[in-house]
Amino acid sequence: MSEGKEKKDIRDVITSGPPVAGLISPSRENLIEPKTKEKEEKFDYERCTHCGYCRHVCKVYNTSWCETDYAGGRNRIIKALDRKDIKFDKEEIIPSIYRCMLCGNCKVVCPVGINTLEVFQNLRKAVVKKGAMPEKLSILRDSILCNNNPYMEQHVDRFNWCEENEYGKEAYERAKKELAAIDEAIAAGDLEARKPKPHKVGYFIGCTSSYRNKELVNATSDVLGKLGIEFVLFPEERCCGSVLFRTGLEDEAMDLVKQNYKMIRESGVSEVVFSCSGCFSTFTLEYTKFAGGKLGFDLYHLTQYVLKTVKEKNLKIRYPKRTKDDPLLITYHDPCHLGRYCGVYEEPRELINMIEGVKLFEMKHNRDMSWCCGAGGGVKALYGDVAGEIGRDRIAETRTCMVIIREDRLKEALETNAEVLVSSCVFCKNNLFQVANEDNSPIKVMDISQLLNECEFYK
Ligand code: SF4
Ligand code: SF4
Repeated sequence: MSEGKEKKDIRDVITSGPPVAGLISPSRENLIEPKTKEKEEKFDYERCTHCGYCRHVCKVYNTSWCETDYAGGRNRIIKALDRKDIKFDKEEIIPSIYRCMLCGNCKVVCPVGINTLEVFQNLRKAVVKKGAMPEKLSILRDSILCNNNPYMEQHVDRFNWCEENEYGKEAYERAKKELAAIDEAIAAGDLEARKPKPHKVGYFIGCTSSYRNKELVNATSDVLGKLGIEFVLFPEERCCGSVLFRTGLEDEAMDLVKQNYKMIRESGVSEVVFSCSGCFSTFTLEYTKFAGGKLGFDLYHLTQYVLKTVKEKNLKIRYPKRTKDDPLLITYHDPCHLGRYCGVYEEPRELINMIEGVKLFEMKHNRDMSWCCGAGGGVKALYGDVAGEIGRDRIAETRTCMVIIREDRLKEALETNAEVLVSSCVFCKNNLFQVANEDNSPIKVMDISQLLNECEFYK
């Protein structure tokens, strides 16, 4: 574009170009297999054909009806910025960039296989470099950098919950003792002391469970303890950096990655368990990349670890409040970070299906086409109203699902009041729980760790 030529308005950009199709949300069967062959010498967003397939799977677009809010519309903006067709107007551009949960549903349906998550995270990085980051994010960043958590809490309080949890307290003290023993061995010249040991399990708890959702960290510790797993905590644990990665603050996140990674390596554990899907995906993707593809320890989400242990120990699971003939009716919400980010869809379901006294029903949108809860990608912090609306839709979907379930139950001539939405991510649990509460929904929302903690494991 020649110097001095008048810039376009953002509205001209998003309403010009090829017509947007995708008036009907594509079903999984109709999707074109994304192209996996080598990418052309282009940035990913340049390959966007504006087909519009991503438009109707985007929960933000379906809430705001704003053309700048879905992947195809955002790609138009990036192209226009690149060509200098529009100027970077913070007021207009920032909402489009940050009003996205990075849920990855657009990536699943994109017929040309654009890695939208990578494109949008890179875009956020560019915004941060320009110094145009939303104010609220700088508060989050400062808290993480000063306190090692985004909640402005003191780092020394991270393990306060242990005081009232027998298994947690043991795991914390065991860790302290083992670290002291390792240090002693190293001082005595045993250079192998820090090498991973077979079957040594660490539990990485994450900031939200540590400070805000102690019910999850308590339930997870109890489940691991009841399964007879001698786990350790990481007394030096810091924020995993997930929030920073998602919001464009990758450089700041790398310090946390280095510290947490060193801490885990030095603890000598060979298996790390996560109850937070956000921490789990950050370790699976970003930490693994940092370690050159090989971490030196295995990562498990709680659902995977419990399933593995139950199989190894040949255990059965029972939900004692209900029976096989009168089961608790459950529907499972796939967290984006566990499902679309890490491909963990089947283990949680396999685990739930193993529980006697529980029956699992699927919502219409499940697995890789699951709707996001509305809380991801910084949307909850920056645009709480959008997160609320999206969470409300997901709750509404569970209600529809529950009607079907009730009809099913009626067919079986059974009566029940128990209706539970289970997820396996603290952010999903919080957003859906909040909405269900505000709306006086009959749906009870809980995390899978809480469900498992109400179960019995037996031979
Ligand atoms: S991002 Fe993919 S699905 Fe969305 S408009 Fe572009 S090409 Fe189509
Ligand atoms: S990542 Fe999710 S919220 Fe963001 S544009 Fe894609 S579908 Fe919409």
